Amino acid sequence: MTTNASTRTIEIPRVLSVKDLGDLMGVSPVEVIKELMKNGVMASMNQVIDFDTAAIVAADMGFEAVEARAAQQAQVPVEAASARPAIDEDAANLAPRPPVVTIMGHVDHGKTSLLDAIRETKVTAGEAGGITQHIGAYQVQVGDHQITFLDTPGHEAFTAMRARGAQVTDVAVLVVAADDGVMPQTREAIDHAKAAGVPIVVALNKMDLENANPDRVKKELSDNGVVIEEWGGDVPLVPVSARTREGLQDLLENIIVVSDVLELKADPGRPAIAVVIEAELSKTRGPLATVLVKTGTLNVGDYVVVGETMGRVKAMLNESGKRIKSAGPSEPAEILGLQSVPRAGETLRVAPDEKTARTTVIERIREREAAAMRQQQRITLDTLFGEISAGKLKELNIILKTDVQGSIEPIRTSLERLSNEQVKVKIIHTGSGSITESDVMLAVASKGIIIAFNTGTEGGADRQAATEKVDIRHYSVIYNIVEDVDKALKGMLEPTFREVITAHAEVRQVFKVSRKNSIAGAYVRDGTIARSDSARVLRDGAQIAEGKLASLKRFQEDVREVTTNFECGIQVEGFDSFEVGDVIECYRTERET
Ligand code: GDP
Repeated sequence: MTTNASTRTIEIPRVLSVKDLGDLMGVSPVEVIKELMKNGVMASMNQVIDFDTAAIVAADMGFEAVEARAAQQAQVPVEAASARPAIDEDAANLAPRPPVVTIMGHVDHGKTSLLDAIRETKVTAGEAGGITQHIGAYQVQVGDHQITFLDTPGHEAFTAMRARGAQVTDVAVLVVAADDGVMPQTREAIDHAKAAGVPIVVALNKMDLENANPDRVKKELSDNGVVIEEWGGDVPLVPVSARTREGLQDLLENIIVVSDVLELKADPGRPAIAVVIEAELSKTRGPLATVLVKTGTLNVGDYVVVGETMGRVKAMLNESGKRIKSAGPSEPAEILGLQSVPRAGETLRVAPDEKTARTTVIERIREREAAAMRQQQRITLDTLFGEISAGKLKELNIILKTDVQGSIEPIRTSLERLSNEQVKVKIIHTGSGSITESDVMLAVASKGIIIAFNTGTEGGADRQAATEKVDIRHYSVIYNIVEDVDKALKGMLEPTFREVITAHAEVRQVFKVSRKNSIAGAYVRDGTIARSDSARVLRDGAQIAEGKLASLKRFQEDVREVTTNFECGIQVEGFDSFEVGDVIECYRTERET
């Protein structure tokens, strides 16, 4: 780096082209390009670079860069600048914004009914004559406050958005049916909300039922780490009935109280940043996307970049189907005018002009391609030590799935005990049964790994883990889990072999071939089984045997492989008690690269 005694100060906007930077410094763009190359950035003259990059190059060329105040930025057209004069992120410009709420809970506990009841009592009243339509989110008025509800209930959607880097939810409403209590998905929802650091408000639903048993539910909640206010904790619990509408107002007020503590703020004056909640292609109106504004104000006429597409907002509709001209923080809006359909969870940003929008899209596509080359870096036990030593990892998040409930505690205790000064071992979710897609998404969202003890992986989850590069480790001896995690923490783990699940087959018939031997007549549900694979035999989701394939046959003939939707005969070494309904999960081991 050339340090210059007579350093000059230049004001650089948040984004600018390479040529603009050259102009500001009074040097040719070629000089700037050369300097960028020295810093590993390949750029053309018209390429848009951000302030940080520009500042580094400027420093190398003897300039001190300060960020230009947004109102003075050359890129903002006069028209847009006057419409939104204060494009600034000063704390002084921040104003309170409504909370964004997701409803979670076990199936049939009344999530949809509750969303509908709140919408009907609150939205249609205010929008007389308006046709409520599903756009993915809606807002209700509570006194002088507003609340935005995401209209897709469930922690799956919530965690899927987080996995894509978009946390939009501020408060989770956990619906628990008073007659049914805490169920498996209730527990999952609790863990998913906690992993995201989102506060919970419990809606104790179905209070109209005679067999409602609030005391039992309170106890179960507390057993699962949700301590309600009445019991000295900080989680409000509100008895409600989606059917009789009782308690709804109280629920809404509690959401307001909880979100007040969060001091949610945004700057309505700046260009909008929003998140896509839902998107689809309409035959008549083209690509449609419902976005939720995180900060700033989105206006009709704005140029926007969303993921890898762009457009100009032609029109915006609210949840009543009414045309609106602008949408502020926490406000949902359906927008028309994108060039193609974006994906849920992607971020929308307003661009100063069409050219910048286009350049940004091109940049993003290039960046994605480059990232694909570099391969996504997720946490795996093998890379763990490197992350710890580099100071990048302070917590190892583990999702633990076991065959039976009873195995959870001993494993949890032994693993948590491995925490040291540098890194804390944190079990963020546990459960018995196979690994589900929801577990994989939680691992992605929380940058965690999954440990499976005597249990398998559901077909969909398995494919997802492969695409998302989530590390799933299978064990059948507790000691080995503890040993591996311990070694990983200390950086002593030998480069290992990764397990790749190749197929799932379902046992449909069992043939006795001799007194000691039987063959499973199986149907391949997904994947392709290879003769060289190993297999786990799963009964009701729990592993009952594991071994190499002893034979793989089609019509009595030995074959090298059998693919999806075909039947075959399978024998597993050392196992002879197949039953109809067993699942054979096949896998091979590959050397970790
Ligand atoms: P979700 O799966 O959590 O979305 O649950 P739903 O909203 O579909 O509700 C499941 C069932 O419970 C439906 O038959 C609802 O009519 C019923 N239900 C929902 N809320 C209440 C309530 O407050 N009281 C009673 N009695 N039934 C309810």
